[in-house]
Amino acid sequence: MVDPSKRSLRKPISKKNNSRSRARKSRKFVNDISCTIQSYYRMENLSRMTRSRQQAENEERKAQDVARNIVDTILTLRCPNRKCQKAFLDFDGCFTLECHQCGVSFCAWCVRFNDWNHGTVHQHVDRCDAASRAGTQHPFYIFVEHQRERRRTLVINRLRHENQRTVRRVLDIINTNLEELGINISITDLS
Ligand SMILES: [Zn+2]
Ligand SMILES: [Zn+2]
Ligand SMILES: [Zn+2]
Repeated sequence: MVDPSKRSLRKPISKKNNSRSRARKSRKFVNDISCTIQSYYRMENLSRMTRSRQQAENEERKAQDVARNIVDTILTLRCPNRKCQKAFLDFDGCFTLECHQCGVSFCAWCVRFNDWNHGTVHQHVDRCDAASRAGTQHPFYIFVEHQRERRRTLVINRLRHENQRTVRRVLDIINTNLEELGINISITDLS
């Protein structure tokens, strides 16, 4: 608090002095302002850089997650028994497959229908929507070809929800996995 009694003791400022000091003040003000503006833009640039780096990191993480998910749940064929989900490769001619881990039988066309009874799955295999031919006994190459197309469709459908940049990056990451399975997917397949 300013002591009111001391106010009168202040040296009165002459008009000349006053205008000079005002000019000095306003120059200082301009300097201050331009400094503030410069530092504001510096900070803005910095935060924009940080933000775009952050954004790039987020995008990369997202792409890695999607790629991992595709390899894990689509490209790797798994037992459809939710409690098991063991990856499988075995095929012995019958389109009713059996899981070596949990013992469940399941359809080699759709890889969705499963039952503990091999016969029940046989009946499903004969009527399965995903089947490209009748009967339950088929050579291995039919299975391979069918699964190649099935997985290709699933990957495309999975990627349809993602933006172009993510799609490109994901395709880049899973390129070797796709090549190994003979699956061809390009960005134009998604449009
Ligand atoms: Zn069978
Ligand atoms: Zn299983
Ligand atoms: Zn089926």
